[in-house]
Amino acid sequence: MVVLPWWFPATALTRDSTACPEDRGLLLLRAQVESVHELGHTIGLIHCPEYTCAMHASRAAEEIDLKGPGFCGECDKAVRAAGLGTRL
Ligand SMILES: [Zn+2]
Ligand SMILES: [Zn+2]
Repeated sequence: MVVLPWWFPATALTRDSTACPEDRGLLLLRAQVESVHELGHTIGLIHCPEYTCAMHASRAAEEIDLKGPGFCGECDKAVRAAGLGTRL
C-alpha cells in the first residue's frame, strides 16, 4: 500500500490517457519521482527548467513521465551543497 501525504496530488498520478489505475508499476514510479521532487523542496530546491529533472514542475501525469527520480547537474550540485548525496 502506498501512503501519500495529504498535500500530494494523488489524482495527478492517474489522470491521463497513458495509464490505468491498475498500472501499478507506472503509478509507483510516478509516486517515486514526485516524492523525490517534494523532498528536494524540503532542502530548499526550487523548480528546475530541465524537463527530465525530478525538480521540474509537473502539472500533468504525462509531464511526470518525462522526468526521472534523479536530479540534473545543477540540482545535483545544490543537493551536494546541502551536504546530501543524490540518493535521498
Ligand atoms: Zn515543486
Ligand atoms: Zn534540475
